[in-house]
Amino acid sequence: PGPAATANQIAQQQDQKKKKKKEKLSSLCKTPPSIVRTRTGIGYHRGLFLGEGGFARCFQMKDESGKLFAAKTVAKASIKSEKTKTKLLSEIKIHKSMVHPNIVRFIDCFEDDVNVYILLEMCPNQSLMELLKTRKALTEPEVRFIMVQIIGAVKYLHSRRVIHRDLKLGNIFFDPDMNLKIGDFGLASVLPSKGSRKYTICGTPNYIAPEVLGGKAVGHSFEVDVWAIGIMMYALLFGKPPFQSKDVQVIYEKIKKNDYIFNPTKDVSYQAKVLIKDILATNPLERPSLDEILEYSWFRNGSFPSSFTVESLTQTPRNV
Ligand code: ADP
Repeated sequence: PGPAATANQIAQQQDQKKKKKKEKLSSLCKTPPSIVRTRTGIGYHRGLFLGEGGFARCFQMKDESGKLFAAKTVAKASIKSEKTKTKLLSEIKIHKSMVHPNIVRFIDCFEDDVNVYILLEMCPNQSLMELLKTRKALTEPEVRFIMVQIIGAVKYLHSRRVIHRDLKLGNIFFDPDMNLKIGDFGLASVLPSKGSRKYTICGTPNYIAPEVLGGKAVGHSFEVDVWAIGIMMYALLFGKPPFQSKDVQVIYEKIKKNDYIFNPTKDVSYQAKVLIKDILATNPLERPSLDEILEYSWFRNGSFPSSFTVESLTQTPRNV
């Protein structure tokens, strides 16, 4: 089978795995309403359910002083295999070492008999995915504001040889001050050296770079994060990702052929399209670097809002 078949099989396997995991999670991940941290004796109280991913459930967690955190809760019963344990430990190790204003802060991690808890900085204003669902599309100044913050955080990651590999709207959160924070280091990887490559096919279909679909023969590196930044920029301006389709295999075919259009009914500037087109280059070496992206006319000659307001979560701001 060629790489397309391989990628499709992997997508199907991933779907099935996700279903099984969800079934397991609902039966196993019974987080007790009050948890006492064993090592230091600090008590945490569970609050509202925030959401769930393939691996974990997220709850609000309050410490005794009333400070709120987001707690990623992983049922121990679901991490019995060595492979899953190693993955979780790697996520914790990488996330713990990342300290940047635009990265969700790792606070602490502890366990009881049933669960592993990862305490994170609370991001109460949801992710860019929910924002886009509500707003349908954002204004160009808003997207500039968002992109500058994301690029700053990704520059930091890459300077520490970390590839995130799962950058997407659903993994970028707003903090209480409406600054953006990259989260979910579940697929992140530290490269042993700047020039080394990764060979595992992973990511989220709409955001996967073409070289990842090339599979084991090609390998991939830091440029996959640049690609995902291009996909997010497109999605925020046009309302949906460029290679969107119901069928995962069709998404992959479109990605490999670089088959997307700029919807002419949307009012998006020529400069924005130039930048998107360059970022979404099939050849990873032709993509602009993060610094080069910031030098494009769309950034240099365009306006920025001084901040992103809570009102903008639901309404298009005036003047921008
Ligand atoms: P997984 O790694 O299993 O995909 P995620 O890290 O994506 O899990 O978290 C699952 C959900 O929990 C997210 O979709 C989001 O709704 C919520 N969440 C995750 N981190 C935070 C956070 N720091 N603040 C608020 N909500 C969060």
